Amino acid sequence: MFSTILDDDMSSKCAIVVGSGLAGLSAASQLVKHNVPVRVLERAAKPGGNSIKASSGINGAPTNFQLFAEPGDAFYSDTVLSAGKRMSSFTTERENLIKTLTEGSAGAVHWLVEERGVDLSKVAQLGGHSYARTHRGAGPPPGFAIISALMKSLKKSPLFHLQTSCTVTKVLQEKKRVIGVEYIDPNGNYEELHGPVIFASGGFGGDAKGLLAQYRPDLAGYPSTNDPRPGTQPLLTEAGAQLIDMDSVQVHPTGFVDPADPTSPLKFLAAEVLRGEGGILLLNGKRFINELNTRENVANAITSTSSTSELPRQWEVQLVLDEATYNAAKSHVDFYLFKGLMRKTTISELSVEALETFKSYAITISDNTEDPLGRKFFGNWALKEPTPESVVYVGTVTPIIHYTMGGVLINEKSEALTKDSKRIEGVWSAGEITGGIHGGNRLGGSSLLECVVFGRIAGDQCAQYLNTGK
Ligand SMILES: Cc1cc2nc3c(=O)[nH]c(=O)nc-3n(C[C@H](O)[C@H](O)[C@H](O)COP(=O)(O)OP(=O)(O)OC[C@H]3O[C@@H](n4cnc5c(N)ncnc54)[C@H](O)[C@@H]3O)c2cc1C
Repeated sequence: MFSTILDDDMSSKCAIVVGSGLAGLSAASQLVKHNVPVRVLERAAKPGGNSIKASSGINGAPTNFQLFAEPGDAFYSDTVLSAGKRMSSFTTERENLIKTLTEGSAGAVHWLVEERGVDLSKVAQLGGHSYARTHRGAGPPPGFAIISALMKSLKKSPLFHLQTSCTVTKVLQEKKRVIGVEYIDPNGNYEELHGPVIFASGGFGGDAKGLLAQYRPDLAGYPSTNDPRPGTQPLLTEAGAQLIDMDSVQVHPTGFVDPADPTSPLKFLAAEVLRGEGGILLLNGKRFINELNTRENVANAITSTSSTSELPRQWEVQLVLDEATYNAAKSHVDFYLFKGLMRKTTISELSVEALETFKSYAITISDNTEDPLGRKFFGNWALKEPTPESVVYVGTVTPIIHYTMGGVLINEKSEALTKDSKRIEGVWSAGEITGGIHGGNRLGGSSLLECVVFGRIAGDQCAQYLNTGK
């Protein structure tokens, strides 16, 4: 354990990062690059946050891994479209953030691949995207691969220091300038650490009784992919920060209902890539939506029907892959099969309606006719002559609370802003703790991206502040 109260000389050169997820580690990487000592305070016993669970990938365009070149502004347009009505307020601020995100996306993927050695060579098209631009590797899931690579690189530097089991409880200010944080150390003692601060402490999707209950009481009882924990946005509002879009909560359409523990409130995510690679969704044996529609629309299509359980509040939707789709998403599916979340079976074990559904879907794909539900990309689905004996891979899924779009308003420099849009000196924010970038709906793959883009910007800005006082 290092000394928790730094002397004045040291504190003037040390940066503090709250949270060791992807945003925090991206910021720390830049600080180290600029020769700035960095102290990362992490509440959990291990680093990685929700970032380490990420399973579908990170967006980037244009990259060398994309098979189809896309127009320069397509990613920007998709993000604006997905943000929806929220774009009508804070329009300029949002446009600037989205530009920074999408224009920085190729560089973010390049940085991870070229400078940190992460394999991101596979590209899938997720819901709401008009092109395939979500990158992952052939090996471990992308969140794990990226966090491991960043940790490996950071650990080599004597400038990097990570303290786990330390919960930040307060932002310290002097004449409105942020000068450090108060935190509880692993022994339960309150300590102070001085220096400029980057908040990268994640979203509030697991804060069911606190921020979620306050902003979205209608989502009470929904299961979640996030561990139960309080959100940290209030620490920054106490320091003058403005919150935005706090009621924009992403309900992901597909969390696995574990047959061994069907009522657990904590669910495992059924990665978006399963649908991106060709998977389809059935309710009572029938397709009911273009599976590549936005998460919001797919989830709404499910929750507009009667739930099958009230506590937790859940539905029974079947996520089905054929053999070819299984092969394309093999590393994911093998893991889900191992965990008992999916099973290999035959169509005869589903329902009579399901066989009819597969037959008409096969006609749509074979004849290249228009899908009545509007799906335009069928991924790897190749089951053209379905019979009761055809092999399929199936899991039961339900909508879950997954991601919080709202949070601290930042600008393109990752500076936390006040109600009158002024920068709060000495503090930056990046990652899921922030709001404004995704509006009403985040596109799959754009959260890891925001962590890298805005985390690195925060690191650069904080280093400049320490070096020049500006
Ligand atoms: C199962 C799952 C799959 C996902 N898949 C994808 C995907 O494929 N692509 C994608 O783009 N996005 C995905 N997401 C979303 C994405 O992973 C997260 O939004 C993103 O990783 C958030 O990163 P972060 O660094 O902002 O926060 P986190 O990774 O959550 O890290 C925040 C850290 O801050 C710590 N912390 C919080 N409060 C305090 C405090 N007071 N003091 C000290 N430490 C604190 C937390 O313990 C945590 O470790 C997924 C999310 C989940 C849950």
